[in-house]
Amino acid sequence: MKDIHYSESFEQLWQEEAEIKTRVQNRLFCNTFLVCNPLSAIAFFLSGDPFFYTLLPAHMLSGSIILGYMFLNYRKVISGQQMSFYAFVTLICFYAFLLSRPHHSYVQSCINLTLAVIFAGLVLRWPLRYALIVSLLGLTLYPASIHFFSDTSLTEFFEQGAVFVMVAHIVFPFVVKLNYSKDKREFYFRYTLQQQNDALERQKTIAEQATRAKTDFLSMMSHEIRTPLNGIVGMVHLMIQEEEHSEKPNDLLNTLKFSADHLMAVVNDVLDFNKINSNHVILDPQPFNPFELFDILKKTFDPKANEKGISLVCSIDPGLPAQLVADRLRLSQVITNLVHNAIKFTANGSVVLEVKEVARTPEAVTIDFSVTDTGIGIPNAEQAGIFEIFTQVRARTHSDSVSGTGLGLAISRELMRLFDSEIHLESEEGKGSRFSFRLSIPYSEQPVAVSQPLPVAVAEDIPEVRVLVADDNKTNLVLATQLLKRKNILHDTASNGQEAYEMFRQNQYDLVLMDLRMPVMDGFESTGLIRQLDARVPIIALTASAFENEKERAMASGFSGYFIKPFIPQDFYDYIFPFLGIAST
Ligand code: ADP
Repeated sequence: MKDIHYSESFEQLWQEEAEIKTRVQNRLFCNTFLVCNPLSAIAFFLSGDPFFYTLLPAHMLSGSIILGYMFLNYRKVISGQQMSFYAFVTLICFYAFLLSRPHHSYVQSCINLTLAVIFAGLVLRWPLRYALIVSLLGLTLYPASIHFFSDTSLTEFFEQGAVFVMVAHIVFPFVVKLNYSKDKREFYFRYTLQQQNDALERQKTIAEQATRAKTDFLSMMSHEIRTPLNGIVGMVHLMIQEEEHSEKPNDLLNTLKFSADHLMAVVNDVLDFNKINSNHVILDPQPFNPFELFDILKKTFDPKANEKGISLVCSIDPGLPAQLVADRLRLSQVITNLVHNAIKFTANGSVVLEVKEVARTPEAVTIDFSVTDTGIGIPNAEQAGIFEIFTQVRARTHSDSVSGTGLGLAISRELMRLFDSEIHLESEEGKGSRFSFRLSIPYSEQPVAVSQPLPVAVAEDIPEVRVLVADDNKTNLVLATQLLKRKNILHDTASNGQEAYEMFRQNQYDLVLMDLRMPVMDGFESTGLIRQLDARVPIIALTASAFENEKERAMASGFSGYFIKPFIPQDFYDYIFPFLGIAST
């Protein structure tokens, strides 16, 4: 096997590992000799061999020395490997001494010595040098002690089994090296695997941090972009409304409105995608009447289809349950995007929205949704990437009338993922496209309970109400007050939370529109103080923030509503009027 080059840091780790790993073996080795040596002396005694009298004191002495090593190891003066090594060296010296004493026969001694080496080879995990020293000692001291200090000849010694002792000593270093290298290599693989895991873990953390940073950056930036954008979009809408009465349409203003609306759509789409993609969107299933929903949707699509002179057919299965339980807003978002695209990319012919029940269980109904058009279609080569972000099929982008954000389908796909479904596309260039998806939706045959509408005033006949608007951004303040002025709603303004609180203390208000981030005192704190004075007055957060948790925080701090900038005037009225008991027009 290929040699591995261990690094210095690994060697250090391995030393520690080897010490822990071999602790038991080293102790076992020493303890075995502490017990077995005196036992072998007793065996000599029982067989009436006088060698017992030499053997016992020698073993007692070697045992005491080994106990000393064990104590040193216990006090951490020497390592476990050193302990067993010194013990083995000591034993070899004692055995050499014993061999030099007069013997009837060396057979028993040779058996014992061979077994001792085999046992050592089995249990010990040493560096090679320890094994070499021990073996060299055995190979030299045993024959030397017999040759120089005993009456017996070496030939006798070898004839009575010394060959086995010698062979055992020669093999011993190889066995030790083999075991040791195997353990070390295994540890090395575990160590490198661990290192790789750690490295991967680090990379994963970095990637996650980068994604989080990207999401936060987008949310942060979008706040910065949305605040001025709100001013631009709102002002442009107001200017257009003013221009409506003049005879000559203002082209420049219309172009500006188009760009402002488009910019707003892009920012909102980027944000929406970012939010869904970072798992910040959780579906909110609520019961709704499907027929009512598709009716409303059709009404919103009709003007666009009429404008282009194409027929829009909504084929809704009449057998659908009276009540479906799903996130109606998100479902509408996907359908709206598909139908808008179909209308956008169809010059003549038709767009068909089909909703068809395909199966039903006691719990859920399976419905196929499809949007089919007779438009320009999507080339085969482009179909796979059509759901990626910012994808727009070539040559479409030149025309203003078909411009888009390139995010609609990506958002729809992500939303479908939340619904546990996916969008399928069939399309032929020049002939048309069909986008479809299948949903399994819980249902009930009970019609959705309709809450009695509150008695409300009609928008044209605004009751006497007074609104307080708090915003530090001058343009947004002007925009909000202009919007209120147009509906003849009385209002006051404050440029920070502190001022808003002071004004609220001195006056009577029916509604407070409060920016969240303001100098001196922010919207949260101001709302907290106002709530101590009046627990019921509606306070709506007007914010450009995209952080989902900010909404939760606002609602928990006593706000009654949360309205995101930028907005178009109609949406503004639609949102605030119910709080004032006014019906929208
Ligand atoms: P966009 O805002 O550009 O419409 P989408 O993600 O909704 O972004 O669509 C991506 C691209 O897919 C479009 O720009 C268009 O090229 C193509 N596309 C989507 N729907 C249709 C369709 N019904 N017919 C032809 N092309 C389509």
